[in-house]
Amino acid sequence: MMVSPATLAATAPLALEHNGDLYSCDHFVEPKFRLGNIKQQHMVQLVASDQQRAFGNAKRDTLPRYCRECEVRFACNGECPRNRFVSTPEGEPGLNYLCAGYKAFFKHIDRPMKTSQAHSERNGQGQDRSGTQTGQPAVDHDARSD
Ligand code: SF4
Repeated sequence: MMVSPATLAATAPLALEHNGDLYSCDHFVEPKFRLGNIKQQHMVQLVASDQQRAFGNAKRDTLPRYCRECEVRFACNGECPRNRFVSTPEGEPGLNYLCAGYKAFFKHIDRPMKTSQAHSERNGQGQDRSGTQTGQPAVDHDARSD
């Protein structure tokens, strides 16, 4: 699947330093995650680079089984990799230390969210992830792959 640089830029919290250095994420401003410098290369090329794509894919590919089989993964997806430093009950590393809270929260809001979504669909309107009315069909949250 092709993803446009604009889409990548919109979904990745890039970090741009004062000297033009661009990093994959504002939580990973380290040499390993430096994409390049916008004074030497166009920002679009850096955002669409294989390195940045791999950074995004790693969020999915490094999820422990506990997350991959989680009933609220569609909403949580393991959250930010910087917070994945504890082990699952089975001892697999890579679990988010905030897991219990996320699981409780997303289960708690599941019913009201479904009610809200059904209401929007009945009225021919959808909502984006921020809850803003879009006038478009509602988003299928189960289809989220990242
Ligand atoms: S709630 Fe916990 S197990 Fe489920 S996806 Fe999030 S971090 Fe993983």
